[in-house]
Amino acid sequence: MNDDERMEQDEKKDNPWDFRELDNVDEQKEELLAGSDSDEKKSEKPDGKKDEYEEVCFICRRPESKAGKMFKLPNHICVCNDCMHKTMDTVSQFDYQGMLNHPGMPNGNMTDFNNGKGFPNISFVNLADLQGDGGIPNKQKIKKKKKGKENVPAIDIKNIMPPHKIKAKLDDYVVGQEYAKKVISVAVYNHYKRVATGTMDEIEIEKSNMLMIGPTGCGKTYLVKTLAKLLDVPLAIADATSLTEAGYIGDDIESVVSKLLAAADNDVERAEQGIIFIDEIDKIAKKKNTNSRDVSGESVQQGMLKLLEGAEVEVPVGANSKNAMVPLATVNTRNILFICGGAFPDLDDIIKQRLNKKTSIGYNAELRDKYDKEKNILSRVTVEDIKKFGMIPEFIGRLPIIFTLEGLSKEMMVKILSEPRNAILKQYQKLLSLDEVKLEFDAGALEAIAEKALEKDTGARALRAIIEEFMLDIMYEIPKDDNIGRITITREYIEGTGGPVIDIRSNQIESMDNLQEIKE
Ligand code: ADP
Repeated sequence: MNDDERMEQDEKKDNPWDFRELDNVDEQKEELLAGSDSDEKKSEKPDGKKDEYEEVCFICRRPESKAGKMFKLPNHICVCNDCMHKTMDTVSQFDYQGMLNHPGMPNGNMTDFNNGKGFPNISFVNLADLQGDGGIPNKQKIKKKKKGKENVPAIDIKNIMPPHKIKAKLDDYVVGQEYAKKVISVAVYNHYKRVATGTMDEIEIEKSNMLMIGPTGCGKTYLVKTLAKLLDVPLAIADATSLTEAGYIGDDIESVVSKLLAAADNDVERAEQGIIFIDEIDKIAKKKNTNSRDVSGESVQQGMLKLLEGAEVEVPVGANSKNAMVPLATVNTRNILFICGGAFPDLDDIIKQRLNKKTSIGYNAELRDKYDKEKNILSRVTVEDIKKFGMIPEFIGRLPIIFTLEGLSKEMMVKILSEPRNAILKQYQKLLSLDEVKLEFDAGALEAIAEKALEKDTGARALRAIIEEFMLDIMYEIPKDDNIGRITITREYIEGTGGPVIDIRSNQIESMDNLQEIKE
């Protein structure tokens, strides 16, 4: 190698932008464009596994399914055909010769370059600086559509679980609420039958969106969660209070679909058969006596109409709001099951008012306070009452299945403590069994816990808080003493008037006033 060659090589090393190579831009363009065909192999990961996610164009953010084949650049950056063409066209308009001959163009030093005449406002991007080594993270990629599956209905009608089986499974987890479980099982069965039939003929099965009314902590969310788990469909739980009309502070209404897409691992097909649960739906009731625009109430109801009915929505992938840096996916909500839930406080007054009005006219007039003591007055709800509460008719019209859940009674609370598959007491028993200690609760203790929870008025949610409070000491003390074989929680211990019954491994039974004493 002579000196000239060596110098030239050194120069190349220092200068990442070797402009001499750009003399034949058109040739390079051809080359790059031709390179786009050798793709399939590249979408395979080094470990031989096929990548399940679509590539997303780094410039326009459209996924491969929309923008067509991608050019793969270093650092996992992909650029779509359109953007690549545009870039190449822009690049080929430059006067490279002029640039090279320019006196302010020494060894790739851009500052010197700009100090000379150069090109103002043009900076060169170093691809390596853009995004670590991951390019666009998987979180923002959309799963590829499976080939050849376009016309195959995603759900096989023979495989849909019949209502009695759905209910039997729900029974394993959810205590009471027999009516709600029955309604929901039938509605879900019909919904997935509708999805399975695919195209609609002249008899179109209506969508079975639901409205669930019941006091807080009675199992609304739990019911839906259990349902989604046993049907193995993605579920998104959103809170209506955080939703506002697009453009205002808060989440856009479409963000609920975005959440579902995330729950489905960005698989659009799977998301399109999922369930969206919108909690606290009563909080978007029309505000009474307001002159300003109701951006978090009536407007949200209006905005939800098209989602509930079924529409194509463009949702951001891997983010809550649309912006230039987030890829978009189109999701059709036609087959998404919407379940709305709310406590609807004061709805019972509206119902009572209506019932009283009816009975206080004519000879059969009854006492005005006849309904005041009725326990499950909510179950007499009608669409009119919900309208009066502040939900707009178009909104209720899109939730054809309306049902109520009962407030929890003491008996139900006791059952919730011990009967469901993953009952909270069973969880503690399992924890202690790992220390080889048997944990038992006598009937009085269960009742005492239920009574305490009822006082708090937050439904079954209070149970966990109460149990955690008194189990803390037990979980702390037991591992200290290897002799303890069994511990029985009593009503006295819950009420703070006595201690649990401790059974030492030698089968001596001792009753202690409190745990501290056995340690001393
Ligand atoms: P909400 O009706 O306010 O949505 P949740 O469904 O969140 O109430 O209930 C809170 C917790 O209480 C649940 O996680 C569940 O463990 C328990 N729970 C409530 N109702 C029942 C029920 N009927 N059966 C079993 N567990 C229940």
